[in-house]
Amino acid sequence: MRKKTTKNFTNFKMNNEVYKLRRKVMDFIYELKNEGFKLPRIDVRIGTDKDCTILGKARLKDNIIWITKKCVSDSNSNFIRTTVYHELLHAIYGCNHVKGCPIMSAEVSDVVVNKSKSIEIFRKYYNKYN
Ligand SMILES: [Zn+2]
Repeated sequence: MRKKTTKNFTNFKMNNEVYKLRRKVMDFIYELKNEGFKLPRIDVRIGTDKDCTILGKARLKDNIIWITKKCVSDSNSNFIRTTVYHELLHAIYGCNHVKGCPIMSAEVSDVVVNKSKSIEIFRKYYNKYN
C-alpha cells in the first residue's frame, strides 16, 4: 500500500474545516484539468509540518502532495496556486527545482505570478514530460 504520510508532516483527520481546505487545493488541480492538461488522480493531504516555513511537500512521481493548513488559510490564491503547482510538478513528473523559476525554485519566489502566467509556466514543464 502506498504511504500516505511523509516525514515531519502531520496529516489532519478529515472534518468539515479540513475538507474545505482540501477542496481549495483540489480547485487548483481542476483548474489545470479544465485547461486541458491530462493529470493523474492526485492524493491531497492537509496538515502541519514541524518546520513552520514549509508550505507543501510531495513524493516524487507518486502522485501525492501535502499542503500545510497555514499555506491554504493564510495565503492569497495566486500564492496557493503556485505552491500547489510546484508540488504537483514534483509529485507527477519528479520535476527538480529550477533556480529563478517563479514556480519551481526551491525558495519561495519574490514574484508571485497570476493564474495565466502560472498556467503558462506549468505548460512548459508539462510539455517537457508529456
Ligand atoms: Zn520543491
